[in-house]
Amino acid sequence: MTLRLFNTLSGQLDDLVPADGKALRMYACGPTVYDYGHIGNFRTFLQVDVLRRFLKLTGIAVRHVMNITDVDDKIIRNATAAGLPIGEYTARFEKAFFEDLESLQVERPEIIARATEHIPRMVELVQKLAAAGAAYQTEDGSWYFRLAAFPEYGKLSKKDLGGMEDGARVDLDEYEKDSARDFALWKAAKPGETSWDTAIGRGRPGWHIECSAMAMEFLGESFDLHAGGEDLMFPHHENEIAQSESVTHKPFARHWMHVRFLLVDGRKMSKSEGNFYTLRDLLLKGYKASAIRLALISVPYRHQLNFTFDSLADATNAIDRLRTFHQRLTTGSFADGANPALQAAAEKAQADYLAAFSNDLNTAEARAPIFDLIRTANTAMDQGQLLAADRDAILAVLASFDAVFCVIEDRDAEPTRRALEWAEQAGRMAEVAPELLTRQGLTDEAIDALVAERTLAKKQRNFARADQIRNELAEKGIVIEDSKDGVRWKRK
Ligand SMILES: [Zn+2]
Repeated sequence: MTLRLFNTLSGQLDDLVPADGKALRMYACGPTVYDYGHIGNFRTFLQVDVLRRFLKLTGIAVRHVMNITDVDDKIIRNATAAGLPIGEYTARFEKAFFEDLESLQVERPEIIARATEHIPRMVELVQKLAAAGAAYQTEDGSWYFRLAAFPEYGKLSKKDLGGMEDGARVDLDEYEKDSARDFALWKAAKPGETSWDTAIGRGRPGWHIECSAMAMEFLGESFDLHAGGEDLMFPHHENEIAQSESVTHKPFARHWMHVRFLLVDGRKMSKSEGNFYTLRDLLLKGYKASAIRLALISVPYRHQLNFTFDSLADATNAIDRLRTFHQRLTTGSFADGANPALQAAAEKAQADYLAAFSNDLNTAEARAPIFDLIRTANTAMDQGQLLAADRDAILAVLASFDAVFCVIEDRDAEPTRRALEWAEQAGRMAEVAPELLTRQGLTDEAIDALVAERTLAKKQRNFARADQIRNELAEKGIVIEDSKDGVRWKRK
């Protein structure tokens, strides 16, 4: 079974197979660790996880590299504002990022590469570009890529870059204009900024050079697949191609996969629109990590996903059905034998499931035959027509479904516990859904008991204990109000 995956570079579906016949060498752009990841970021990481898991299900090993951008314009700006060295500033968000991936059951890539730990490779690449006439240094000591040295620029995004001005420069890590500019490879040190003393001067790498240098360090000059969010296609990925191919004169990545961004309630997600969600926001609202995973992967990666709270509720119901059905099969007792109709249904579900995935990772079509099988099998069970061999065949189908979807086994308690622990430390308890607190053991009765204890403590003039109880409850989002009619409490 070969995966046919859309290739942005060729503009068509191409077979995705390891060139060396052993392991698929792939690079996926990782996070810039300056804030908590939002659901748009995680949609991309989840779809790459779906790809990895499907490849492994079909017997293909993967060698997957992901970078961590731990130095860039935004990080330097935020760390300076927080009065922290950049390493200290980014460590907190890097840790949070990996916790979030774990909550979402995203497999860890084989290789994680931090930009700040690979500076010598980036310097080396700038030197090679300079030797090839594709890089030049400006008066302030910064280095730029000379776009005119790479006539194929634009071949990935297929943008019309006719308005390109020779020698026009940009030193920002991100730029959105449809016009191309010579871009910064290396930025000369500015006073007070983190910098490295190197053979090409004191400074720090630009964002684009990181990915070229680290991809080639771990995967070689030419590798199988490069993946990332659609917003990275231009200019980041074009720049990666230009930097790499100007030195190697070989195709950098043969196959490019881009995951479309999501909308929330039909609009672009943004903080100012009030529809911006991190994974942690959703966990604190009481949604299960598995439901968030399922909602974010159920729409195929090349389609726009409109994320809504209804879609999360649907995912929650779907997971309930899967888990209830799975439990019914594993705990029920079934007579020996096989029902030919169910054997055929299980076989068809498995074949349809694999066929949908191998057609450009169509997660929506891959889901459908599994739920059809659940309906058929439930009816058969009700009528006593499901036999032991059918149970085994259907459990095997569910196992292969869960090898990619990864939602049947209930691992939801830990992400929720971790999110609550984080909310307490970060002073975010007021955002926690009341049902979640009740679920976590803070029942109305428990609160009543604490409030009564506080009243007693006050009568006994033990004000320290009374304040302690008030603070503890406040941290969990419970407000106490003293009035002349007595003490009342409410959940924030
Ligand atoms: Zn990248």
